[in-house]
Amino acid sequence: MLLILQPGSTDQTGTAILSALRDAGLNGETVARKPRRVIRLRGAAPHSAEWLRNLPGVLHVVPAERPFHLALKDSERHKTTIRVADHTVGAAEPTIIAGPCAVEDAQDLAAVALSLKRSGAHLLRGGVYKPRSSPYDFQGLGPDGLRMLAEAGRNAGLPVVTEVVDERSFDEVGEYAHVVQIGARNMQNYALLKSVGAGPLPVFLKRGFAATLEEFLLAAEYLLEQGNPNVMLCERGIRTFSDHSRFTLDLSIVPRVQELSHLPIFVDPSHASGRRRSVAALAKAAIAAGADGVMVEVHPNPDQALCDGPQSLRPAAFELLADQIRLLAAARDGQGEAVT
Ligand code: PEP
Ligand code: MN
Repeated sequence: MLLILQPGSTDQTGTAILSALRDAGLNGETVARKPRRVIRLRGAAPHSAEWLRNLPGVLHVVPAERPFHLALKDSERHKTTIRVADHTVGAAEPTIIAGPCAVEDAQDLAAVALSLKRSGAHLLRGGVYKPRSSPYDFQGLGPDGLRMLAEAGRNAGLPVVTEVVDERSFDEVGEYAHVVQIGARNMQNYALLKSVGAGPLPVFLKRGFAATLEEFLLAAEYLLEQGNPNVMLCERGIRTFSDHSRFTLDLSIVPRVQELSHLPIFVDPSHASGRRRSVAALAKAAIAAGADGVMVEVHPNPDQALCDGPQSLRPAAFELLADQIRLLAAARDGQGEAVT
């Protein structure tokens, strides 16, 4: 067991807890002082987690093998907000990220970026390093695509987010992107998590499609532990026996993350469903469930898209969805919390 102490705990708090443990016949040692003070219990604790949690100064009691304490909330109201250009992620207004799956063409991208901005998107997405399931599929334009993305974002007044797949791509992306995306397939690429966690850019971390909530928060913990506090989480669908959608959107993770973690949680209805017709319904459900934002794929001509056309909205459909998201968010936040 690990005892995570309350923020600002002093040496005296730690000593008092260690001596309370000794009095109860337990052995503990301080294993971290910063950024949080952590005491590890040696051996099995016959006392209940409740007893340990009630020791003065203890904030959380977590199993030693699952110590994601940096990703956990300090208090009910603890929430990370992240400034991206002039937008704040994690505040009341939901963040809308939109754009094509992949950067394909400078002119099309510039036009779609302007239309997304007019519709109220806050960030422009576009992959230039595409982790495709088949090596024969379009792999992204690489550095040329990065420059197109950066320019389209600049012209439209939208900060940009793009995916990195390894350390080399991270070095290149760092020069152009405002936010770095780590995709579902790399959620447990620990070397990549460490590099991106040691870097200066906010991170958009997508849930692996077979990852539990615990594994998801542990992946975030890698980023936080390296010193990067600006982590956004994104549910993008998991593998189930579903034969009606590409993945299964696990919306139930949204309120659970909001309950446990201070990190903003997004939902990507595009990869979750794989179907244009389902995207708006799932995006609205995500907002209703308390998501801090959505990431939606939009393409000016989905039938010609080199990647993920069937799940991409046309700009006009996105405009309508963005309006509905704003209305829903206002209704959601105006109602207050239901009593549980
Ligand atoms: C993407 O956002 O383009 C992407 C590849 O998503 P995921 O990692 O969720 O499959
Ligand atoms: Mn895609």
